[in-house]
Amino acid sequence: TYTLGPKITNWDSQRKVWLTQNPEFPSIVNGRARILLLTGSSPGPCDKPIGDYYLLKSVKNKIDYCRLHGIEIMYNMAHLDEELSGYWTKLPMIRRLMLSHPEVEWIWWMDSDALFTDILFEIPLSRYEKHNLVIHGYPDLLFNQKSWVALNTGVFLLRNCQWSLDLLDAWAPMGPKGPVRDEAGKVLTAYLKGRPAFEADDQSALIYLLLTQKDKWMDKVYVENQYYLHGFWEGLVDKYEEMMEKYHPGLGDERWPFVTHFVGCKPCGRYADYAEERCFKSMERAFNFADDQVMKLYGFRHRGLLSPKVKRIRNETVSPLEFVDMFDIRRTHEETK
Ligand code: UDP
Ligand code: MN
Repeated sequence: TYTLGPKITNWDSQRKVWLTQNPEFPSIVNGRARILLLTGSSPGPCDKPIGDYYLLKSVKNKIDYCRLHGIEIMYNMAHLDEELSGYWTKLPMIRRLMLSHPEVEWIWWMDSDALFTDILFEIPLSRYEKHNLVIHGYPDLLFNQKSWVALNTGVFLLRNCQWSLDLLDAWAPMGPKGPVRDEAGKVLTAYLKGRPAFEADDQSALIYLLLTQKDKWMDKVYVENQYYLHGFWEGLVDKYEEMMEKYHPGLGDERWPFVTHFVGCKPCGRYADYAEERCFKSMERAFNFADDQVMKLYGFRHRGLLSPKVKRIRNETVSPLEFVDMFDIRRTHEETK
């Protein structure tokens, strides 16, 4: 069967030696584990130019979040392995990053169609000390219903360790484009509840793996649903005004969703499950909802959730540091911790 590369069996000890030999690249900086956010899109342009415009907004959103929280970011547009093209390409890329950046403790995958909509919220990393995969989902949907949407692989964190390399090795074999992926798709559709007939996708393959080899993997998997590590856009995008009226950033859950993910909208592709206009309008709202939180630091806000134009929200001053103290997100976060 397909492999991602030569089988590595002692990564934890290799990495440990490297970390002691390279103290200038610590895996923990200022008491916090080093995180690398990985996102990306296809090597070619989107089917329509507006798709590329939304990819640009989406990466701006991620750069803003990562810059404000001291997270590194990588944008991948290559298919490292022709066989694992499309949505499967995240697997070889995650593996490459782990092996090339031993200083990174967590690789955080985020789809191009997912936006940070709570710029203040931070991943509660201490909760995951004993886990290696953190993914949004619902244990009941997973174990009792075997649902193909029990977990969402649009956003997840994977620890840089031997366990994760083993998981990637076990996860990848359904991926190769062509007959392998097509045949595996039939297995997944037969096994998982609600899954339409189509080629094997990385989400279904992960769910299948975790269900069929539960004892082997689940100990180290944290199925998170206390906040929206992934938040399905449909129930969220029409409530932003209500959220702004009642709540504040930093909550991360349905009151102020951490991530809004445009599952089914395919902004860069040809076929979507939803009307195109509704998708782009909703993405515009999510982007501006988030961008207002960023622009507030600089004294501006959007004219409305559908407007790319901004207006000033405070006057220029000769003592700007007062505003730094008031509005710097990093500082606010220190206080709320
Ligand atoms: N992706 C990628 N390279 C590709 C195709 C997709 O990196 O050639 C990434 C992209 O970030 C996208 C994610 O994989 O959001 C999931 O791909 P899919 O086509 O399933 O899009 P989605 O489900 O997000 O609409
Ligand atoms: Mn997606």
